[in-house]
Amino acid sequence: MSALTELYEEIARCRQCQIASTRNRVVPGEGAEDADILFIGEAPGWHEDQQGRPFVGPAGQYLDHLLASINLKRQQVYIANVIKCRPQENRDPLPVEIANCRTWLNRQIELINPRLIVTLGRYSMAMFFPGKSISRIHGTVQKQDNILYYAMYHPAAALHQQSLRQTIEADMLKIPSLLARVESITETRPEAQQLKMFEV
Ligand code: URA
Repeated sequence: MSALTELYEEIARCRQCQIASTRNRVVPGEGAEDADILFIGEAPGWHEDQQGRPFVGPAGQYLDHLLASINLKRQQVYIANVIKCRPQENRDPLPVEIANCRTWLNRQIELINPRLIVTLGRYSMAMFFPGKSISRIHGTVQKQDNILYYAMYHPAAALHQQSLRQTIEADMLKIPSLLARVESITETRPEAQQLKMFEV
């Protein structure tokens, strides 16, 4: 059994938040365990809660389409979420839920060890770019401890807002060249860095 599979058994036993009792399935994440790119969304929705898999509803279909635009299939990347259980009525995740689930996300990052982490939407962005606004930093990159962090809008936002489509599609197209340049991108200077990755 892989370390990630073992981790997912632990996640399935987690009962820290109230939403653990209302979820249908836990949604830890899926993809290539040695993926170069880790996409982090917000939280499972209805479809994900039914299937126990991330991004399988309309936003997921759009994410698949975005991945195809850079010749990638979802099996070649890793897809996870900030929180692993569906909040009822698709409400926003609560700070306590984000904090509780942070341990799981940190362990996923350690095990997958991606070269690039792509945050999808505000909640995911806020974990790695605290205090920043998505409209200002989408499509920009920061490097910390040899991992690149890249902020994008959430695919669901682009589905609901036609004007964001071009933006998210253009941001996706920048990913291959970022990956090709990982080594030459300068690390964020410690005094300037705002990333508080492993803080809960
Ligand atoms: N939106 C997310 O943020 N994550 C999913 O898994 C599905 C929709």
